[in-house]
Amino acid sequence: MKFLITGGAGFIGSHLLARLLERGDEVVILDDLSTGSKKNVERFVANSKFSLIEGSMLERPLLAKVMDGVDGLFHLGAALGVKRILERPLESLITNMHGTEVVLEMAAKKKIRTFIASTSEIYGKNPVQPLTENSDRVLGSPLLVRWTYSEAKAIDESLAVIYGQSHGLPFVIGRFFNTVGPRQTGAYGMVLPGFVRSALKGEPLTVYGDGSQSRVFCHVEDAVEGMMSVYFNDKALGDVFNIGGEGEITIKALAELVIEETGSSSTIEMVPYEKAYAKGFEDTMRRIPDTSKIRALTGWKPKNSLQQIIRDVASQMKADS
Ligand code: UDP
Repeated sequence: MKFLITGGAGFIGSHLLARLLERGDEVVILDDLSTGSKKNVERFVANSKFSLIEGSMLERPLLAKVMDGVDGLFHLGAALGVKRILERPLESLITNMHGTEVVLEMAAKKKIRTFIASTSEIYGKNPVQPLTENSDRVLGSPLLVRWTYSEAKAIDESLAVIYGQSHGLPFVIGRFFNTVGPRQTGAYGMVLPGFVRSALKGEPLTVYGDGSQSRVFCHVEDAVEGMMSVYFNDKALGDVFNIGGEGEITIKALAELVIEETGSSSTIEMVPYEKAYAKGFEDTMRRIPDTSKIRALTGWKPKNSLQQIIRDVASQMKADS
């Protein structure tokens, strides 16, 4: 089969690319290299089944060209990372809303089976945990830039549902919870690569707030398997699935675990929220995925422990330095 991955040079996209090429599929990726990088895909350039088109999904003629002859689409292209959204709010909102609008409009015309990468940010600060696919969205004011990522991704999901109804677009939505692993950059604010990098350098790990906020982390290779398990399942069409790991951990405990796993001499530095983020920032205190829906349909379950994730991230960083 021939697949298009928007955002294929990004963190999750490049792992999906590897998985599809391994299956023997032909894969074209469209990436503007804003947060993705050529380095993420450089080891595939010699593969005749792979091609990288550098450009934006907002460019209609280019998108039409790359979508020509494609059997399946994974739409992962997005502006993401709390830090980047806060720093470049307008560009991020346009990419996340209008980009998906253009991609889905074209996919719907050709009825191309489409995976839409959504996010646990959809649920906002809903205190009722764990979060199932039917959980409410609890958001702050739209005037706070922080929530625009959640807003844009929710519109993307609605667009998919409506294109499904109006044009028969075959789609599946995956809501990724904190997904981590080799090749993720810490440059856009993600905590785990930032902690591992600091630990390897012997620098302090910066824990924001009192560190009691918690997350559940999922290895990117597990997330890719989750994505594949729903994409290729006809029963998943038209539906949405949480894709996330197991085992809740506070950010303070995560910092301690990273120090322990890397054998680092780093210390932990507590940084008040006012110093870490722009004024008015609201952190999400807990975000726990309920993944029983995907498990019931496909049997998918994450395989990697958090310790394994930290080891994989650390060895990739050491190899690259
Ligand atoms: N965080 C932290 N130190 C850092 C980066 C992030 O304490 O250097 C915290 C952040 O405030 C949040 C958690 O780690 O509570 C996860 O942050 P990330 O940006 O990775 O993901 P998200 O907030 O989207 O879950």
